[in-house]
Amino acid sequence: MSGLTSMSIAELTELMAELGEPKFRARQVFEWLSKGARPEEMTNLSKSLREKLSGLKFGGAEIYDKRISQKDGTIKYLFRLEDGNIVEGVLMSYHYGNTMCISTQVGCRMGCAFCASTLEGCVRNLEAGEMLSFIACAEKDVPHGEDRKRTVTNIVLMGSGEPLDNYEEVVKFLRLVSAPEGMNISPRNISISTCGLVPELLRFTKEAPHVTLSVSLHAPNDETRNKIMPINRRYPMVELLNAAKLYANETGRRVIFEYALIKDVNSSRQDAKELASRLKGINCHVNLIPLNHVKERNLMGVTRKDAEQFVLWLEGYGVSATVRREMGSDIEGACGQLRRKTLQGAMEDK
Ligand code: SAH
Repeated sequence: MSGLTSMSIAELTELMAELGEPKFRARQVFEWLSKGARPEEMTNLSKSLREKLSGLKFGGAEIYDKRISQKDGTIKYLFRLEDGNIVEGVLMSYHYGNTMCISTQVGCRMGCAFCASTLEGCVRNLEAGEMLSFIACAEKDVPHGEDRKRTVTNIVLMGSGEPLDNYEEVVKFLRLVSAPEGMNISPRNISISTCGLVPELLRFTKEAPHVTLSVSLHAPNDETRNKIMPINRRYPMVELLNAAKLYANETGRRVIFEYALIKDVNSSRQDAKELASRLKGINCHVNLIPLNHVKERNLMGVTRKDAEQFVLWLEGYGVSATVRREMGSDIEGACGQLRRKTLQGAMEDK
């Protein structure tokens, strides 16, 4: 059973009925949960209700460790879950506010050749309330300035895990985090990133709040994509691009294609040309990332200059593109890297 932190107001209302409590308590509890409070801190509830809630599973996270980048103030968190699992999150500061990058699974089972999150497979899915708890932890850790109401203004589901492989909990999280009675973070300020689970993406287009969609493409054709992203053998690029196009058309929102530039794999002028021709007719933008070298993987990134050249090629072929600003490069900012290092450290300590 999932914990208190995963409950919507409707579910809390049912819980209050079961506990013999008045209905209005549901909203109070929800408001507290959205602030990351534990039952004993919910001071406007009766003592007996606090005690009843304390006896239930909470389902939260706590900060286990954190690192602050000396370069740009990015904070990388390691969160500990109630079962002892450790996952990452990153808080990045921009002129418009702070973006929190959260994980959706402990590990990942997608097997992308360049990614550290997947090296040991997927341990388990995260619950909606655990994801909510990461945001609440960061909000408590970093007080917001006077110029805004909250610390975390934007969210990206781009940490460890494949969000659409944990469909139900991710959609539930999106509803909880955008609830006006709770954190009230608008879907407009939330991005979800997928490696391309096409059936789930089609379902998401119909059912879920309209967030910004990022698609991790990383290749201009099936031949290259098959080599670095196993998911492409199940859902080839044409299906993925059609689903992305449908999302853009249905939601009226531009789709972002993530493209990590890998030396001698996907970064030539011919690759740019082929990519541009595949993206024709899709309302999109390409976000280029020089590959972060992962120790265990034998793939090399390109220089910033090469990445800028790739932008010019794409623009020349009529596709809008930018090179992503690198954040927290001194604190193992990339996917799965810090968790892995910590787990290895913990193992070496034994
Ligand atoms: N599973 C989802 C969410 C992860 S988002 C997805 O695949 O989209 C994390 C992003 O970082 C993805 O675009 C992923 O492909 C990319 N990434 C993973 N390892 C990387 C690396 N070593 N260098 C650059 N980008 C990487």
